[in-house]
Amino acid sequence: RAIVRDIDMLEEKNPSIKPKPTPEVDPTVFEKRFLKKIRELGEGHFGKVELCLYDPRGDRTGEQVAVKSLKPENREEQSTNLAREIDILKALYHENIVKYKGICQEEGGQAIKLIMEYVSLGSLKDYLPRHKKDTSLSTLLSYCIQICKGMDYLGSQNYIHRDLAARNVLVENARTVKIGDFGLTKSIKDNEGYYTVKDENDSPVFWYAPECLTHCKFYLASDVWSFGVTMYELITYCDSSKSPMTLFLSMIGRSHGQMTVIRLVKVLTDGRRLPRPEDCPEPVYELMRKCWEQLPERRITFKRLIEELTTMQQ
Ligand code: ADP
Ligand code: MG
Repeated sequence: RAIVRDIDMLEEKNPSIKPKPTPEVDPTVFEKRFLKKIRELGEGHFGKVELCLYDPRGDRTGEQVAVKSLKPENREEQSTNLAREIDILKALYHENIVKYKGICQEEGGQAIKLIMEYVSLGSLKDYLPRHKKDTSLSTLLSYCIQICKGMDYLGSQNYIHRDLAARNVLVENARTVKIGDFGLTKSIKDNEGYYTVKDENDSPVFWYAPECLTHCKFYLASDVWSFGVTMYELITYCDSSKSPMTLFLSMIGRSHGQMTVIRLVKVLTDGRRLPRPEDCPEPVYELMRKCWEQLPERRITFKRLIEELTTMQQ
C-alpha cells in the first residue's frame, strides 16, 4: 500500500509518468492462432463455413463462432467479394440477420476470413426435412415473416440480396430464423434501383425472376420473387423431390445444358409457375403467386407480405 501511495504522489508531482492505459484491443480482430476448428458447417459456391472455438485463454472457455473462408480454388477471384460481404454484414443490425463478429487475417495478410455468430441449428434446408413433425404451418409462416422482416430491412439499407433461398436462412432455435449468406448482396445506392449481373455463372437460376434471367437486372422486387421460391421451399419442408430445381427441370425437360435458362424463361413467360404444394392452403399459395408476377412493378412488397402473412398466421 505504501508503494501505491508513493506512485500516486509521484504522479501528482509528475503527470507525465502516469502509466499509459493499455492499448484498446479491437474485439473484432480474431487472431488465427486462437481459432480452433471444431467441424465443418457447410459449403456453398465459393466459400466454406467452419465451426470454431475462439479460445485466447487456451483453456477451452472460449466462444463458438462460425468462420467463413473461401475455398482455395476461389481465393484469387473471390477475395474482393468476401471482403465486400464482410463490409456489408458489418453494417447490418437486425434480429433476423446473422450477426457479424469480426475478421481473421492470415499471417501474409491476403486471405481474410469472416467471423460471425454460430447459428446452431444450421440452414432451413438442413433443418426442415428433419423437423417436419415439430414444425406447424403457423411456425413456417412465422419463419416467412421473419425472413421478410430481414429482407425489408436490407432493402431499407439499399441492398439487394440476390441469393435468397432456404439454404441461406439459418435456424437459431425452433422459433427464430436469420438470413445468413450475403455473398451475392449488392448495393443499389448509386444505381437506378437495380443491379446488373456481370457473371451469369453465379446465378441460382431457379430462384431468379424473369428480368434477372433475360436482362441480368436485379431490383428489390427480384428479391421478392426469390422470396416466393423460398416460401415454396419452406411449405414443402425443403423436400428435395419437390425442390424448385426438380420441378422446373421436370417442366422444361432435363439435359438442355446451356439451353436451360432459355427454356426456363420461356416457361415463365408462358405464365407457368411452381405448383401449389400438397397441403398448402390456397391463400398461402396466392401469396407466393403475388411474388411471381411477371412484371417486377406488379409484385407484392416485403412490407405487404409481412402484413398478409401476419394476418394468416393468427
Ligand atoms: P456460401 O456463400 O458458400 O453459399 P453460406 O454462407 O451460405 O456459404 O454457408 C454455407 C452453409 O454453411 C450454410 O448453408 C449453412 O449450412 C452453414 N452456415 C453458414 N453460416 C453459418 C452460421 N453462422 N452458423 C451455422 N451454420 C452456418
Ligand atoms: Mg449460401
